[in-house]
Amino acid sequence: MQGKMKAAIQRKTGTPLKIETLPIPQPGPGDILIKVTACGVCHSDLHAIDGDWNPGPVLPLIPGHEVAGHVAAIGAGVKGFRLGDAVGVPWMYSACGQCEFCQAGMETICKAAEATGYSKPGGYAEFMLADAAFVARLPKKADLYAIAPILCAGVTTYRGLKRTKVRPGQWMAVVGIGGLGHIAVQYAIAMGMRVAAVDVDDEKLKLAKKLGAEFTVNARKADPVAAIQEKLGGTHGAVVTAVATQAFEQAIGMLRPAGTVAYIGLPGGKADQIRASISAITNWELTVTGSNVGTRLDLNEAVAFALNGLVKAKIQKAPLSQINRIMNDMRKGRIVGRMVLDLA
Ligand code: NAD
Ligand code: ZN
Ligand code: ZN
Repeated sequence: MQGKMKAAIQRKTGTPLKIETLPIPQPGPGDILIKVTACGVCHSDLHAIDGDWNPGPVLPLIPGHEVAGHVAAIGAGVKGFRLGDAVGVPWMYSACGQCEFCQAGMETICKAAEATGYSKPGGYAEFMLADAAFVARLPKKADLYAIAPILCAGVTTYRGLKRTKVRPGQWMAVVGIGGLGHIAVQYAIAMGMRVAAVDVDDEKLKLAKKLGAEFTVNARKADPVAAIQEKLGGTHGAVVTAVATQAFEQAIGMLRPAGTVAYIGLPGGKADQIRASISAITNWELTVTGSNVGTRLDLNEAVAFALNGLVKAKIQKAPLSQINRIMNDMRKGRIVGRMVLDLA
């Protein structure tokens, strides 16, 4: 497809995004071109433009990895797609398929993986390319705005919850009730867990309650470790989606003996280091694990929960022209739920 598109682009780390008119990219072998309808705004996009992580993004950067849209052109060798098919593009743009991790079904830790909206141009644009082997297939009638946040916030928290091995009926602490966390609460409940929610903002905790959390703590007003140990005897598992070092340290203390915490948030920079008690981890046989987005299987399962109505992101739509304002609101922790860019 020939022509031009609008995209939000950053040419130098730490500068605001600019809306520019660029040529529509052409699909190479194995690629599909996607006409973007919706793209969620993840805090990882903010880390990318602020340069919080090492290595930094490939410049110029077009962020966006919660993309839902339709196939607009098909590259050589791609099978099983038709023009107009609805698809979703996650953070994991591609993985090598050959290394020991890919062979073991752990493609999330493939060292040769590419990342949408970080090492490859993402969905803050009217069109983008995707690797046909790594996109999610969506039903024709799916609400693409509602599905967009599932493509990162959904799959990531779903995998994180699974990695704690917490069973139905057991307690899960969801620490950080932002874009990821408010969806994590819903997956946890759909998976049969009981949820304790922790954030530093009462409005977000109110949302967690509405979504089914039985116990909430505002970590700015009370010690969440003491509150959870006193009231619940600790939780069997925890997922941390907060963007604050302290939350990662506290989550270990929220656990019951033999509990597991999955780290999901990535504060980066100086906030990347924690202090933890060795004896607490050793004596109580705790597990601290990381969880990095999700495999294609996780993605398909996470999307199925949403299509079946078990999980629904609280979204607010905004035009691409609002992107720098949205980033600013996110920096200040002012977003409740998820912002979704409307590119249609
Ligand atoms: P967000 O800004 O929407 O939410 C962050 C939440 O943390 C906010 O609700 C905020 O109030 C809360 N918070 C801040 N300080 C806190 C504290 N001390 N205790 C409890 N809560 C606190 O961000 P998001 O889009 O949900 O992303 C969260 C993090 O997850 C980011 O660092 C992002 O980069 C990371 N992330 C990781 C993966 C992965 O694969 N591991 C995938 C997606 C996002
Ligand atoms: Zn993300
Ligand atoms: Zn690999």
